[in-house]
Amino acid sequence: MSQKTSPRARIVCLPGDGIGPEVMEVAQRVLRELVPELELTDYLFGGVAIRATGGSLPDETLEACRAADAVLKAPIGDPEFDAADIRPEQGMLQLRAELDVYANLRPSRLGSVDLLIVRELVGGLYFGASGVREDGTVFDTMEYHPRQVERVVRRAFELAGGRRGKLTSVDKANVLETSRMWRRVVREVASDYPSVEVEDMLVDNAAMQLASSPEQFDVIVTENMFGDILSDLAAAVTGGLGLAPSASLGDGRLGIFEPVHGSAPDIAGRGIANPAAMLRSTALMLNHGLARPEKARALEGAVDVALRDAPTPDLAGTSTTAEFADAVLAALGG
Ligand code: NAD
Repeated sequence: MSQKTSPRARIVCLPGDGIGPEVMEVAQRVLRELVPELELTDYLFGGVAIRATGGSLPDETLEACRAADAVLKAPIGDPEFDAADIRPEQGMLQLRAELDVYANLRPSRLGSVDLLIVRELVGGLYFGASGVREDGTVFDTMEYHPRQVERVVRRAFELAGGRRGKLTSVDKANVLETSRMWRRVVREVASDYPSVEVEDMLVDNAAMQLASSPEQFDVIVTENMFGDILSDLAAAVTGGLGLAPSASLGDGRLGIFEPVHGSAPDIAGRGIANPAAMLRSTALMLNHGLARPEKARALEGAVDVALRDAPTPDLAGTSTTAEFADAVLAALGG
């Protein structure tokens, strides 16, 4: 069996808010069974960190993330902080920027659909200048440097080359200057990947195509906000938010692995959260973060079995979070 990482790989676990600790507990139970030599340590992050320390991303947590082999993150967010000056989501943007994880991979598969959205994660509208002018006008700005576009587009070409060899670059080039630059960069990078077929698509059309014929897509690459919205749509047409994982990668080895869904305050504490997205994110960590693809495949297979045998209420089933975890462990032979 190949083991490229040190046997005591250190995983920083961020249990977060709402259903976060419930789905993180399942991920840790499964990891202890599947890869017992991993060192799993919990750190404060999100609303729970604001309550304890006054900030969403405490220094101790950031330092631990920097020194880790991978960051496994459950959702954060709490309605208590919706109108507060310090909000959990600020820590999330900060963590992504600090670790420079610029490529957010969001796979979706169901039946004949098997697509991967690569979303730019540390630039664009979510990171540009924002504020209020003297006359009361509120503004956010979308900015990209060609270098920021090139690195994420290159990553997407590489991923497409290892899959079905088709890349769709999504933009709004008929309106936005940043999108016209994005298209130019895609064309330049494309010459390095002659085996990948590439097409440009406007974001409004991409939304319609994703809803009506998602099976046409292999890899989609797009800027931060478009990717945020389109990946939720892709999740919705392939079984729902409870199933969708993500991996956020930079140039180095360190990545953040987290479900796409939020902290689901409406069902928190009831023991019925679907841990599938958290477990699929854990599988992405085993594959992309720890170079253990065989463990990743075993976990993905076990999650598919549990989805069939022990679906949670969001999938019209009756199983609890713990029963779903039992089904995963049984499928793993634990
Ligand atoms: P949400 O994803 O938390 O919930 C949307 C709906 O999907 C809810 O009905 C919820 O019950 C359901 N749902 C989500 N995940 C589920 C799961 N695993 N099992 C069963 N049902 C599930 O989105 P929201 O309600 O818009 O946001 C709630 C909070 O989460 C907000 O504070 C938001 O900012 C935060 N949020 C955090 C992240 C993150 O940490 N990456 C992502 C999105 C939203």
